[in-house]
Amino acid sequence: MEPTRIVNHRRRDFAGLWTLRLDGGRVAGLDGPYDAPVPAPPEALDARGGLVTPALVDAHVHLDLAYSLELVPENESGTLHEAIRHWARAKAGISAANTRARARRAIETEVSYGTGILRSHVDVGSAAGLRLAEGVLAAREDTVRLCKLELVAFPQDGLIRDPGAVENVRQALRSGVDLVGGIPHIERVPRDGRRHLELVFDLAAEFDTNIDVHIDETDDPSSRYVEHLAALTIERGWQGRVTASHVCALASYDEVHAARVIELLAEARISVVTNPGVNLHLQGRFDAYPKRRGLTRVRALLDAGVPCAVGQDCIQDPFYPLGRGQLLEQVFLLVHAEHMSGPARLKQALEMACCRAGEVVGLGHHKVQPGASANLAVWPVATVAELIRERPRPRAVLHDGRVVAESAREDSPASGE
Ligand SMILES: [Zn+2]
Repeated sequence: MEPTRIVNHRRRDFAGLWTLRLDGGRVAGLDGPYDAPVPAPPEALDARGGLVTPALVDAHVHLDLAYSLELVPENESGTLHEAIRHWARAKAGISAANTRARARRAIETEVSYGTGILRSHVDVGSAAGLRLAEGVLAAREDTVRLCKLELVAFPQDGLIRDPGAVENVRQALRSGVDLVGGIPHIERVPRDGRRHLELVFDLAAEFDTNIDVHIDETDDPSSRYVEHLAALTIERGWQGRVTASHVCALASYDEVHAARVIELLAEARISVVTNPGVNLHLQGRFDAYPKRRGLTRVRALLDAGVPCAVGQDCIQDPFYPLGRGQLLEQVFLLVHAEHMSGPARLKQALEMACCRAGEVVGLGHHKVQPGASANLAVWPVATVAELIRERPRPRAVLHDGRVVAESAREDSPASGE
């Protein structure tokens, strides 16, 4: 179905009911507000008083890992390093076809929960070779009508410890992968981690690509790669083209150093992605009590003007057994872990999964506004607070103006609060 309009919907910051006109896969115009529901012609989608938002943006996921829980031994310590160890052994035996099927299932699940844009890291370390990238690239082809998917060449086992990964990153970029990834904290010593970051920038310059690195994914306050990332971003002229994922150690820095790092991230125009479920699950594992929450300093970053997004990260894999591809669940966890429960903070938390996240993945106008792509979610609730509290399936998900997912359940009309 390609509706010509969405009638009787609510907007986040406005009262009343609205009609959205759609044309050629774009938002053509907005009419309203109306005090009462208008009749819905057959070619219209009736939102029945529900909220319309931009389609959700999952700014950080690992589609090659999704649903691999049963392929990998149990992570008994629950730590990042045990997960990486198990995965390193398992991935050597995983085929491109198996990866394609799991990635496709994860994409379809995310879309059914309202996600329309995803950025996935794909392991291209020596043990993975290019098989996982091949599988995820094929899954992208399979689902091209459902969503937009951006891929990051991710050297999971390092670039210095695993020198073969450097050429694999190059090959992946030649095959259609979009960004260069990294993970400096996996290297043996800080000197190698800094060299790792330099290699990431060398590769990005070679292919003129953006960068998204896993960085400081540890509670260790001496893990200080993100400041090197910021310095390199400025030195190499890559401002506005770099994303720092996780940045957990920032939460363990003393206040003076943390303030300096946040200022540096803002200067380098680096975006930050937090992954609440995974960070809560993997971090704090070496703490007695009190236990750290593991997330980076989201509120301070937002207040400093650093673009921030939220990611699902893992869907039933050795790193996190409980992910299910519902991005709103991650927003819900973020609100708890970062104390973002006031009305303004709730709105910011949701924006980290839609319009602000769009900026992070390079979509400047991911908003419900005339001229924007009609990548939208229609929800069976009326307010942002209800959306985060209830986390329903969307009534409909639109990609380039076409309905690509619909909820089978007929919810009662949204009533507001
Ligand atoms: Zn990740």
